[in-house]
Amino acid sequence: MRQILLLVLLFVVGQWFVKALRRAQTQTRAGAQPGQGAAQSATGGASTSGKAALPEPMVRCAECGVHAPRSESVDVGARSFCSSEHARAWDARTTAQDRPAR
Ligand SMILES: [Zn+2]
Repeated sequence: MRQILLLVLLFVVGQWFVKALRRAQTQTRAGAQPGQGAAQSATGGASTSGKAALPEPMVRCAECGVHAPRSESVDVGARSFCSSEHARAWDARTTAQDRPAR
């Protein structure tokens, strides 16, 4: 009689274990679904509402380090800047470094 009770107990524990495994698998699948996380990262830019699926590449300003969208950045040579003012400031600084005042 004790063996039968032991078998029933093992069966119940086995069923519970399978349920726990399935629950963990469904939770990981729900967390890995794309779309929900990307939609939350959308900022208040109303101009780029048409192409929300493809986010604009961000470029780093060589002067202040701020990341700006590619369309709003100013490219001078191989470097990108957040504004024309920073591009001019960086150019003036590098020009001063190339030709130091004596
Ligand atoms: Zn800048």
